[in-house]
Amino acid sequence: MSTQIPRPTPPRIAVVCIGDELVEGRTIDTNSGAIGALAVASGWKVAEIVTIPDEPGLVESTVERLAERHDWIVTTGGLGPTEDDRTRAAIAAAVGRPLRADAGAEARLRARAAARGVEVTALSLRQSLVPRGARVYASEVGTADPFAADGDGFTVICFPGVPRELRALAPVVLRAELPAGDVRHRLEAVYLGERESLLSERIEALRLPTGVGVTYAPSSPTVTIGVVGPDLGDVERADAQLATALAAWRLPLGAKTAAEAVVTAFTARGWTLATAESCSGGLVAAGIVDIAGASAVLDRGWITYANSAKVDELGVAADAIAVHGAVSAVVAAQMAAGARRVAGVDAAVSVTGVAGPGGGTAVSPVGTVFLAVATERSCVVADARFVGLDRQQFRAASAALAHRLLLAAVGGDYDALRSYRGVRELHFVP
Ligand code: ATP
Repeated sequence: MSTQIPRPTPPRIAVVCIGDELVEGRTIDTNSGAIGALAVASGWKVAEIVTIPDEPGLVESTVERLAERHDWIVTTGGLGPTEDDRTRAAIAAAVGRPLRADAGAEARLRARAAARGVEVTALSLRQSLVPRGARVYASEVGTADPFAADGDGFTVICFPGVPRELRALAPVVLRAELPAGDVRHRLEAVYLGERESLLSERIEALRLPTGVGVTYAPSSPTVTIGVVGPDLGDVERADAQLATALAAWRLPLGAKTAAEAVVTAFTARGWTLATAESCSGGLVAAGIVDIAGASAVLDRGWITYANSAKVDELGVAADAIAVHGAVSAVVAAQMAAGARRVAGVDAAVSVTGVAGPGGGTAVSPVGTVFLAVATERSCVVADARFVGLDRQQFRAASAALAHRLLLAAVGGDYDALRSYRGVRELHFVP
């Protein structure tokens, strides 16, 4: 139940994370993110997040300072059976009410102790202390009950710090305390093969329906782009505009990575896969194995790093290596074709490149990579160059492109790969 003070819409929340371990780097704050995600889903706005050590005076002064600007202050941490009740006392001081034992909370503490066959201690009973008049919510998941206390024109809502407890309690308590906000609709998709800045330039050139906003969450090598707005129809129209304008880089709906899309597409077709990797060192296969259901798809993978391994395992012609070099379209094609033949699979993908920092030549500088995908129908080689990446980033970029090639192979449509960042040419080998 919310108090009757007029409040702005959408409701604005300030979050205070309390704990020495948080400011000392021993624990990473995940509670504020959980509250932020809940706020987005509920139409509230997290206006500020503050992390403070568990110091006397600091909790009270922080809540008082935030109360000048925000109507709802959500705290996490400091409610457990520690040596004193200073967080509770600080909240009581901030809202200007004395601490009182809550009868319901006390009864629950006594019942829990009895169920464990132990005496309830005075220390433990301090967990029933709340500012007078506070609304206490029974916790099913821990010992400390969350509570909400009204100050002069603001409300403080206090949760225990244990993330599992916070996640279980926050939806129930916050939805009871805060008015419903403007619920917003969101559709998002994952994009691969172009930089965030260039994707956003293309989106800015579109005329999206009024009121629809765009959010970006880059997580190299992909970017998740969402469209958000109050009207579902407008959000769907905006998403359709993005799907058309950014088709070359958009992964199928629901896929978080290209590897996931590969497993889905191969499974749907009943296709099997083999990988033949040099510079990516197993990352292409590992990406597939990361996805549940990979066993229906992946038959085997080779890491053929040495030239002799490419010859012995995959049947690459020693002459081809001598004439064209191990990092070449010809060798990539022979690796993929050989892997497909030896494994007897529907599709095989190969990767051969120069990860650096050494090993580059004038013809094949660091960052050069050739990838090939062989199917019953064709063998397609992508000649790519990834500039300015370190060794690990280069391997990840090569693996992501390998997955993207496999996805193209399922549809037999490689056109979009011409717009993939770093791809210089596509060769169709007869
Ligand atoms: P208890 O004393 O019963 O553990 P509490 O409310 O006093 O509960 P804290 O002691 O502050 O909570 O924290 C309990 C646990 O939760 C600790 O392991 C702490 O590191 C972790 N924790 C606290 N705050 C956060 C946060 N913001 N994000 C992630 N973990 C947190």
